[in-house]
Amino acid sequence: MTDHTQIEPRRALQSIKPYTPGKPIWEVQRELGLVKVVKLASNENPLGASPLGVKAAQDYLAEIHRYPDANALDVKQAIARKLDLQLQQLIVTNGGDELISLISEAFLEPEDEIIVPSPSFTEYIFGARLMDAGVVDVPLNQDFAYDIEAILSAVTEKTKIVYICTPNNPTGTYLPKQDMERLLSALPARVLIVVDAAYSHFATAADYTDGLEYVRAGYPVVVLQTFSKIYGLAGLRIGFGAAPEAIIRHIVKVKEPFNVNALAQAAAAAAITDDQHVQSSSQLNTAGRERLYNALSLMGFSFTESMANFVLVELGAQAKTYYEQLLAQGVVVRYGDIWGLPQHVRITIGTTEENEFLIQALQSLLPK
Ligand SMILES: *Cc1c(COP(=O)(O)O)cnc(C)c1O
Repeated sequence: MTDHTQIEPRRALQSIKPYTPGKPIWEVQRELGLVKVVKLASNENPLGASPLGVKAAQDYLAEIHRYPDANALDVKQAIARKLDLQLQQLIVTNGGDELISLISEAFLEPEDEIIVPSPSFTEYIFGARLMDAGVVDVPLNQDFAYDIEAILSAVTEKTKIVYICTPNNPTGTYLPKQDMERLLSALPARVLIVVDAAYSHFATAADYTDGLEYVRAGYPVVVLQTFSKIYGLAGLRIGFGAAPEAIIRHIVKVKEPFNVNALAQAAAAAAITDDQHVQSSSQLNTAGRERLYNALSLMGFSFTESMANFVLVELGAQAKTYYEQLLAQGVVVRYGDIWGLPQHVRITIGTTEENEFLIQALQSLLPK
């Protein structure tokens, strides 16, 4: 046997922390011997996938011996039509996560820095670390709202990318349009703004923007979108980026030719036209959020009002115990320690029935 400990990985890997996914249903069933398990941990669509998307993937199955379209043209055309963008302003990726890696590979030198809100989606930091670039955290304020002036003060000569996740995962808060415009006008032209709009379809605030209008207007903005959330295609892995053509051209350079599988492409091209599924998913979500707010208030828990399909709930010093007790009852939520929020959990809005199951389980844990 040779000694494999002498095979040294890149030094940059020392700073990379492994991603912690939400526990899958089968794992909880197996570990805890439970039959009924409700997963409210990964912000998946409780109604399932877009039926149009499922049908398109099924119809495509006989063709999977062929390589997928390297340019994902059908998907791009469907997106361009839906969102009033040009084909050259789009890149289709293996989930939104791949887009974050590609942006990091395309733009980050080791001497560069990214600015990330904190707490937020951890993949931005992963992408920077992978490229050995620096990460500057800018904490959200007390109410988990964006502090635009703090972000602007964090900008240095080294700043290359500012990430704005809106609605933000895990807080559900968003960046109002006027703050986005303040940011766009104040940032130096050499700074790229990545607007992660993975949850845009769930946002109901009048002053919300998904950032696409700024792409159309030619600002240095990349808007990230995914088919994993409202479209319900998380298992297929497909998302996309929209940006001015010159920016897309750089990102395309670092993409593998066949990055998006053929079934995902077929499903996504159909799912983006599925207005009915989007509308019922969003309505169910808005009603579910309200129901959860009510129940939480009655139980005396504070929470952050959310524009997404999850709610960040403050359970206090007992949060970890509550999280484990919910798990034992078959309700999987996300414990906040991964975001440095050990007193919080993030709860995905489920179906009406799933929400009631969660609420009852939580109620059963309270002192009588
Ligand atoms: C889910 C999510 C994404 C993208 O997820 P994919 O499944 O890789 O498309 C991107 N950003 C945020 C904030 C998310 O929550």
